[in-house]
Amino acid sequence: MTDPVYNFGAGPAMLPVPVMQQIQREFLDFQGMGVSLIEISHRSKEFDAVIDRCDELVREVGRVPSNYKILYTHGGAQMQFAAVPLNLLGLKPAHKAVYTETGNFSKLANQEAKRYGNIVIASSSKDTKYDRLPPFTRAMVDDDASYAFITSNNTIYGTQYATYPDMGDIPLVVDSTSDIFSRPVDFSRTGVVFAGLQKNLGPSGMAMVLVREDLLGHALERTPSLLDYKVYADSHSMTNTINTFAVYVMKLVLEWLKEQGGVEAIGKRNEEKARTLYQALDEIDLYQAVVQPEFRSRMNVTFTLPTDELTDMFVKEAQKQGLYALKGHRVLGGIRASIYNAMPLAGCQKLAEFMREFARTKG
Ligand SMILES: *Cc1c(COP(=O)(O)O)cnc(C)c1O
Repeated sequence: MTDPVYNFGAGPAMLPVPVMQQIQREFLDFQGMGVSLIEISHRSKEFDAVIDRCDELVREVGRVPSNYKILYTHGGAQMQFAAVPLNLLGLKPAHKAVYTETGNFSKLANQEAKRYGNIVIASSSKDTKYDRLPPFTRAMVDDDASYAFITSNNTIYGTQYATYPDMGDIPLVVDSTSDIFSRPVDFSRTGVVFAGLQKNLGPSGMAMVLVREDLLGHALERTPSLLDYKVYADSHSMTNTINTFAVYVMKLVLEWLKEQGGVEAIGKRNEEKARTLYQALDEIDLYQAVVQPEFRSRMNVTFTLPTDELTDMFVKEAQKQGLYALKGHRVLGGIRASIYNAMPLAGCQKLAEFMREFARTKG
């Protein structure tokens, strides 16, 4: 074996190696059928078994309570930026929702929602370049709001809520694309949680949506049926042809997560991975953290170097050593290390070592 390449890309992101090996082994001959999973009917009993098992694992491994429906939806995470207001604004006559603006995706989410109703931005950290999470509490949300919206982990800037805010009677909607099932969370505080699959769950192009049952059936009249949560819930997400391959990969990822000990165990490991990198970051003067310490993400570690030349050199030298895709997002620059569930601790240790070595020789 050659030295492994550690992929720090933000998404589509690395998947666990055993999952990809299993896909490869089964690809041409799924469970002795002589055909591939991607060429059999989504209504076959074989695919039914795959999606049923995936549901079971979401509940068991992800600790999702039984009063939440599990939906597999088309269009990745950003399709939910429209689906959420279309499905939930109708809960109350004011057709109002309250958002907090904490970065690029949260901004896209509230801009899309504005097409459908009365959207209030209760707080924003734009003035400090999204280096923190602004306060967002029940007191900041009007009583006639249908829902309150947060992005649990801000993938580009690298901020993350330690716990979900308690919105009491107002359904909390969470875009958890970049930290779903990376730690235990209190789902009972939420009305809807959604996540594009491509960071912690599988391939790109689909999302998993968890909806509290009492929130179903309030979609605005003009909601396309393929965005209507009730239509998905009533058809086991198979109103039209589901992305069978994505669900199959997600099932394998969750089986892997179960073997790792579920969200408790992976949460501890993710904490240790992040600590390994933040320690190096704080020790070495050459690197400046982007985010205030108390809001730092365990999934995306962001920092800058003093010049663009040094940043480019860092990315290139790192790549030579098998540390792939460390370049920060184009809106922010600098360096970003995305360390989702599939990233082993060894990858973070190798990166921390490289950070020290680079500072010693180039700084
Ligand atoms: C990656 C990401 C998205 C975008 O997902 P798409 O599937 O490309 O639409 C949205 N929100 C967050 C928090 C993300 O990290």
